[in-house]
Amino acid sequence: MNSTAEALSGLRSPTWYEGATRWTQLTLVEDDPGSYDLDFWLGVFDETQSNATCLSAGGYVAYYPSKIPLHYVSRHIGDGDPFGDLVAGARQRNMHVVARVDPHAVHADVAAAHPEWISVTAEGELRRHWSFPEAYVTCAWGGYNREFMSEVIREIAAGYDIDAIFANRWSGHGVCYCAHCSSDFRAKTGRELPRRRDPFDPTWQAWLGWSRDVLTELVGHWNGIVASERPHGRFIPNIGNSSMLDFALDEVKRYCPILFVDHQGRTGVVPIWSAGRDGKRMRGVMGDKPIGLVTSTSVEEKWRWKDSVQSPEEIRMWMIDGMAHGLRPWFTKFNAKVHDNRWLPPIVETYRLHAELEPVLSKLAPTAEIALLDPSTTLRTWHSDDRDNAEGHELGFYHALVEARMPFDLLSDLVMTDAALDRYRLIAVANAAFLSEAQCDMLTRYVERGGALVTSFETSLYDEHGVQRPDFGLSRLFGASVAGPTEGPVKNTYIALDGADHPILRGFDGASRIMGGTRRIPLDVHGVSEVPFRFVPHFPDLPMEEIYAREPALEPAVLARQVGKGRVVYFPWNIGEIFWEVTNADHSRLLDNAFRWALGTPARVQSAGPGLVDIATRDGAGQISVHLVNLTNPMMMKGPIRETIPLRGQSVSVALPSGATTATARLLVSGQVPATSLQGGRLHVDLPEIHTNEVVLVEFGP
Ligand SMILES: [Zn+2]
Repeated sequence: MNSTAEALSGLRSPTWYEGATRWTQLTLVEDDPGSYDLDFWLGVFDETQSNATCLSAGGYVAYYPSKIPLHYVSRHIGDGDPFGDLVAGARQRNMHVVARVDPHAVHADVAAAHPEWISVTAEGELRRHWSFPEAYVTCAWGGYNREFMSEVIREIAAGYDIDAIFANRWSGHGVCYCAHCSSDFRAKTGRELPRRRDPFDPTWQAWLGWSRDVLTELVGHWNGIVASERPHGRFIPNIGNSSMLDFALDEVKRYCPILFVDHQGRTGVVPIWSAGRDGKRMRGVMGDKPIGLVTSTSVEEKWRWKDSVQSPEEIRMWMIDGMAHGLRPWFTKFNAKVHDNRWLPPIVETYRLHAELEPVLSKLAPTAEIALLDPSTTLRTWHSDDRDNAEGHELGFYHALVEARMPFDLLSDLVMTDAALDRYRLIAVANAAFLSEAQCDMLTRYVERGGALVTSFETSLYDEHGVQRPDFGLSRLFGASVAGPTEGPVKNTYIALDGADHPILRGFDGASRIMGGTRRIPLDVHGVSEVPFRFVPHFPDLPMEEIYAREPALEPAVLARQVGKGRVVYFPWNIGEIFWEVTNADHSRLLDNAFRWALGTPARVQSAGPGLVDIATRDGAGQISVHLVNLTNPMMMKGPIRETIPLRGQSVSVALPSGATTATARLLVSGQVPATSLQGGRLHVDLPEIHTNEVVLVEFGP
């Protein structure tokens, strides 16, 4: 069955979302009605082979003739129904349709009629919109969402042929100090609303829990309203990436058949692999639930050029990296009047690639031998706007794994089980500072059974509530205990190579010491460990005449040990965080060496060649696909993608599974049959050239 037939068979069915694999989102602006070109957009549906669409319906502005008092209808609508026209056009094309609402702001008349619906600042003022002060920001936890938006959702679901309602910016913008929030929070927790966003503060943690409960209940309530009007229909909240931690995950999994990551593009020096990370991260919490990656046609920067157009390479690579890691392509265009149409060709090209790869790749499931633990227990105590501050350790490990060309998953510690851990040969834990006793026990059992662990810094130093333990929860795995408070930040630190024969020391020829981190934990070592690196005792960084080491390096900087049947590498310093900040090549090599030593035997999928490549692997019956995304960026270490530099000299090597003695390979993007050779139980594949990406499909035979 081809994808069109598949989409057709699922139309208006409870499993409609399975066929919703390529999305066009049109976010209307108020003067679109009457002045945009409907046929242009219906043509975009066709040209992109989109099988699903998300269309602006209501909330701040309604694009249909709403009958609900105070529901502001676009003043340009006349006697038309632009939302209805777009729904009809999409349904004529057998597309799935989602209606978008945006509840985060209201016009002044609503604020005057219902001041209790408006968010209140810490100073007690009704909160005006940060970008458009004529409008007001709504309270997410009270009557506006619960009563007014419920009516809007019911009206849209009852009146239009849709599959779901999607709400943007519905979950609030920080603590609201309105009377409802104050009294409800006090009634539920016995506390006053928090005045600061301190992840270690019990009142802040209580607010996060209260917000999580209220908003999760709201998702269920809205879901029930849509389903009561359309039995196959669903409500889908905009929650993605780190903001999904603000909800009760089991409930979200139950209500939402499909989710979307609202991470519309790169900003600043953010690497292009962030798109794939979104996919891994969602899968690491939500399992195999379908997820779309909301990608903007415009530049994503804090200066908000919403009418701009990203370079075609940015759009293409963002979507391709997301697709490689399992995300469905979704593009969003704000403003239906097109001032600049340069976004269309890269989207048409990328969607065509998706349509070509989908029949093969949708039958294979993502797999990896390595999982990077997503420290959700730690991160969820931070406000979603502040989480970047806590994520440096994981981002450093993430980048090191990409540089090492090791395919890996993300696994959230909130859904960690013995079985989930056992899918992997190696768990990398950059800095899961907050871990419960049960989580520590699970990791300990995993290693004792034969799993490998590479971890660093404050992992397991706090319990799940952020209360510091007297010693690491994983002290037995580390073979070491905390011997004093965390030191740092300090400048000018080094770690010295000890001996020459440990595999973790490979590749540092010529060096007797390399850069250390900026924060470290003093250790009392009590287990048997190999110590390939030791800290050089701190010495001054100025005056220049004082910059020399006074004392020999004694304290361990890397512990490598066998525990039960498994291997553990522990770095008692912030290697991930400092690698993410400085991107020093020695730290990349050190992490690479640690991963390889901990694995013990060669990785199942290996790849070599010049440049930076992001790799994703998928498995199916007698097949494995290796997706290589060319991240080699001519802008050096800056983020923006201007040009695709084709990569030559790339190779992939795949271990044959037991029972297989033959293997063949083909390249799904270029359509070529590559040169291969079978050696030592592995198939070696030489790739002629990779442009943006290539998929090597290996098929095994007896
Ligand atoms: Zn409120």
